[in-house]
Amino acid sequence: MSISLVTGGAGFIGSHIVRRLLKDGKQVRVLDDFSTGHRHNLAEVERHIHLVEGDIRDPDAARSACRNVDVVYHLAAQGSVPKSVDDPFAAHDRNITGTLNMLLAARDAGVRRFVYSSSSSAYGETPTLPKVESMKPDPRSPYAVSKLAAEQYCSVFAYCYGMQTISLRYFNVFGPRQDPNSQYAAAIPGILKRMLRGERPIIYGDGEQSRDFCYVDNVVQANRLAAEAARLGGEAVNIGCGERTTLNEIIRLINEHLGTRLQPDYQPPRAGDVKHSLASIDEARRVIGYEPQVFFAEGLKRSIAWFKENL
Ligand code: NAD
Repeated sequence: MSISLVTGGAGFIGSHIVRRLLKDGKQVRVLDDFSTGHRHNLAEVERHIHLVEGDIRDPDAARSACRNVDVVYHLAAQGSVPKSVDDPFAAHDRNITGTLNMLLAARDAGVRRFVYSSSSSAYGETPTLPKVESMKPDPRSPYAVSKLAAEQYCSVFAYCYGMQTISLRYFNVFGPRQDPNSQYAAAIPGILKRMLRGERPIIYGDGEQSRDFCYVDNVVQANRLAAEAARLGGEAVNIGCGERTTLNEIIRLINEHLGTRLQPDYQPPRAGDVKHSLASIDEARRVIGYEPQVFFAEGLKRSIAWFKENL
């Protein structure tokens, strides 16, 4: 029982976790339907892993993916807020039904630990910053509802079946291999792609919205700590850096790095987007010993270098 299963391992964050697991000497299986992930995200490691094309909503695929697995890192999801506003059922189906299906398969296979990639979107527009886990959730998009419901399934599986589950509530993650190409691209890759081409970055709103942007290496580290921490029982903890940056500031920093003077193209705000977000990471420190290693400025520098090379 020593296999690590990464659902969504061909996606942005999953592909980083896969590489880290290989470095840590683990046997890795990936379950992915390539709906938003790409085989090329795993190009140079593909021959060292067991890559299964399948759907987390398919009970047979889930069952066979969980066979002889020690830890499930569950990332597969429909990960976009605006996409969920356009198609709430797809978010519900992938994120809630898909997670329930994986939990059942993991329970039946006797998986030791289930580490779920949750989201800070659960907090919605709660005015208090930083966000602490004891706050009442206030989801503002179908995506946020679906991530929160799946989180509650994880804690209920700890409660009802004694499974060791944990939900990691990521704040905005960024870094290499984040997809800049979809119409639903996240803020930083979308901005970087345009600016590297000498085009004005598009901002929805006035650019003063702020986020706790968290470089992907921190999230990878949180997943590994969650897999190895002392006994868990359905906790939910924030994973961020505890500092926030506005989109206007990001554009200023990228202009500085690139030696450009591109001005934002401001568009109307999008439904479901929240104004400000910032993590308290005290609970993650306490429960899994998490401490961010790469802060925003360094993470942005590394991301610019990667996108310059790989776009
Ligand atoms: P991503 O879209 O790059 O990765 C998701 C992966 O899941 C893709 O490879 C996709 O093909 C796969 N997938 C989707 N539906 C599937 C299904 N039904 N069966 C099998 N595979 C399926 O997104 P990401 O940014 O890497 O996000 C990973 C996880 O982290 C998601 O659960 C997301 O909700 C969560 N998260 C991400 C962020 C962020 O800022 N990127 C923030 C909070 C939470």
